[in-house]
Amino acid sequence: MSLNKEKQKEIWRRASRKYRLKNMEEIRERSKKYDFKQSSKKYAQKNKEKINAKANANYHINIPQGQICIFTNCNKLATDKHHEDYSKPKEVQFLCKLHHGFTRRKNV
Ligand SMILES: [Zn+2]
Repeated sequence: MSLNKEKQKEIWRRASRKYRLKNMEEIRERSKKYDFKQSSKKYAQKNKEKINAKANANYHINIPQGQICIFTNCNKLATDKHHEDYSKPKEVQFLCKLHHGFTRRKNV
């Protein structure tokens, strides 16, 4: 069983090496076009307010000990801070992981 797995791995390794050798130029071109630094810079410029608000909250606001998620009927401890409005970085809501996910999806 495990011998088979090893064999499978080896086959995969060979195949991907073959692919890379065959498409070296194409892969190189693709990674050249995609500028990671530039794209994260772009994100930062686009989301300046968001990033600032987050940094602010991380630095200045602590979740009070024993704080429960603000969602009704949720009795979980709050682990996340949520910004309803990024232009008010000091106004955060305390939520559990699950409900923070909810609000994020709702806002998108
Ligand atoms: Zn919750």
